[in-house]
Amino acid sequence: MPNVPEIFGSLVFNDATMKERLPKGTYKALKKTIEEGKPLDINIANVVAHSMKEWAIEHGATHYTHWFQPMTGITAEKHDSFISPTDDGKVIMEFSGKELIKGEPDASSFPSGGIRATFEARGYTAWDPTSYAFIKDGSLCIPTAFCSYTGEVLDKKTPLIRSMEVINTQALRILKAFGDTTTTRVITTVGAEQEYFLVDKEVFKKRKDLIYCDRTLFGARPPKGQELDDHYFGVIKPRVSAYMKELDEELWKFGILAKTKHNEVAPAQHELAPIFDTSNIATDHNQLTMAIMKTVADKHGMVCLLHEKPFAGVNGSGKHNNWSISTNTGKNLLDPSKNPRENTLFLVILAAVIKAVDEHQDLLRLSVASAGNDHRLGANEAPPAVISMYLGDELTAVLHSILNDEKYERKSDPIMETNAEVLPNFAKDTSDRNRTSPFAFTGNKFEFRMVGSSENIACTNTILNTIVADALSDFADELEKAEDVKTAADNLVKRTVEEHKRIIFNGNNYSDEWLAEAERRGLLNLRTLPECMPMYASEKNVKLFGKYGIYTEVELRSRSEILLEKYSKLINIEALTALDMAKKDIVPAVTSYIRDLAQTASLVRSIDPELAITPETDLMKKLTSLLSCFVKKIDILDKAVMGAKEIEDVAENAMYFKDHVLSAMQELRAVADEMESNMAAKYWPYPSYGTILFSV
Ligand code: ADP
Ligand code: MG
Repeated sequence: MPNVPEIFGSLVFNDATMKERLPKGTYKALKKTIEEGKPLDINIANVVAHSMKEWAIEHGATHYTHWFQPMTGITAEKHDSFISPTDDGKVIMEFSGKELIKGEPDASSFPSGGIRATFEARGYTAWDPTSYAFIKDGSLCIPTAFCSYTGEVLDKKTPLIRSMEVINTQALRILKAFGDTTTTRVITTVGAEQEYFLVDKEVFKKRKDLIYCDRTLFGARPPKGQELDDHYFGVIKPRVSAYMKELDEELWKFGILAKTKHNEVAPAQHELAPIFDTSNIATDHNQLTMAIMKTVADKHGMVCLLHEKPFAGVNGSGKHNNWSISTNTGKNLLDPSKNPRENTLFLVILAAVIKAVDEHQDLLRLSVASAGNDHRLGANEAPPAVISMYLGDELTAVLHSILNDEKYERKSDPIMETNAEVLPNFAKDTSDRNRTSPFAFTGNKFEFRMVGSSENIACTNTILNTIVADALSDFADELEKAEDVKTAADNLVKRTVEEHKRIIFNGNNYSDEWLAEAERRGLLNLRTLPECMPMYASEKNVKLFGKYGIYTEVELRSRSEILLEKYSKLINIEALTALDMAKKDIVPAVTSYIRDLAQTASLVRSIDPELAITPETDLMKKLTSLLSCFVKKIDILDKAVMGAKEIEDVAENAMYFKDHVLSAMQELRAVADEMESNMAAKYWPYPSYGTILFSV
């Protein structure tokens, strides 16, 4: 049994370590920088760097790296050793404040969406002191922001940190209008629940599609999938349990508050939830969590799949982004308290979220757009591509009473009667859950459920913070001028709910009726990434992000371009992989089965020449006809892939991949799956869905 409090954060240069190791004055100055977001003095940086290095070396580190989150979606690191030569041919271990504060990775190999020509390769990373340094694989990792020589941001963290400042400023205005003079900082908090699949490494290695694409491109449905619902919360198998145990321990060492683990709906699918933290740290921790999930799986002879849809016909993986907003005095501003009808401040914050989500459906939707997530949203396993909000019975009743100027009679806490003497009765939550809603109020936070499992949550949270800040800013303009804040706020809440109530939907988001109703309400339904991207740099969004200094128009355009390019490249890789598998493995496999069948048939006929038709000839005919269809589909996909090369415009190119290449892959797959279902297992060149899903 590990000593959890002892290992927790042992690889992190966290507050306790800094307090212990830094001179008092330096510690205080650094804390002030962190809390007030002030720039760091180089003299202080030198002292911090020295202390960090000593600590890192004691913990076995030999290198340091600026750890950043470029637009690739994964984290990037370039390792430098601490060594510095001395005159006598030896080395000493050095690390300066300058090296801590600023790095200069060659930026030309990171996507910039046309911002930076390759000859202008300079890029800078700058230390983000609000996220702690840590040791990973013998390197001291320093969380940093990444920007180009000309100052455009090239990463996902910088806008997030900016957005946290913006919502802090606007929320403080609201609090002040309500007479709060003690709060000095408002922080957004995030808890990202992470879903993932585990498959056996040996099985994984036999699937080119999993190796190159992280998802299967072929595979007939297994006899048993998830239909019995016996996996969800089921008993965890010993191999998985050993994995989860080590994963927890590793995460704890990095100061990650891994809390809950359980089996998910699909076979081989699992979930990990941490305790929430500030948006910034939660983002870093989620990136680290995904990386560590993969390395620990490898040690256990397994592969962790983070793709949004590794298997057709089986639930994919998402990431629930639980979001709230609280003060430095410890008050959660989304806590409705005992009587939300009388809690005007809460209602104002709630109204701001409602207004933000309704006005900026496009942004929330595009923040989760990816080739992988396109397979998941709207497939009755995750919310549809339409954004709506679930508020639950109690808040809906409260808002109803506000709209109708009625008194709100609060029901006493409902009691759950277990009707069994030995079981205690207990107080129920005031509203049930709605698992189908993309944006659900869950007690004292909102849970945004559209995020894909492999995505960096920075973009989503940058957008959430900014759009809510914008609504709060409008509200603050109004409340600051009001003579009677309470009355002004009541009117504001009523008006806002009246204007934006179309976004509230408490019913079943998976139903077709809802999609029709959503259309009547004028809500957006952007099904795929290429459909979302034109919204990125719309006039509304350029104005919004410009107002708060989050993104410039150039940065917005570059981001959409990067995402479009990535989308096309991914589908191109998938198509090439499918073609490779089809031509090199599947066609030869089917042919050899047909040949063996033919031999058997002629053997049978040599015994009894009367037999023209044997079971083998029946099967041969069926497979031959499928194979000839398959070969035609290969040709169609080949041509579709070639066609993409002709289209230069990135947006058009992505749209082409969606409309022509994806569908050609789908048709090819359908025939392959049909052949797989009709073949003897030993001829099929890949492990079946059944084998992969039940391999652990
Ligand atoms: P589930 O949604 O699976 O039932 P929980 O309700 O326990 O799970 O919590 C889900 C996630 O929400 C956890 O990661 C938790 O830390 C996070 N969470 C709880 N409170 C907050 C908050 N105030 N801000 C952000 N995240 C929160
Ligand atoms: Mg959840």
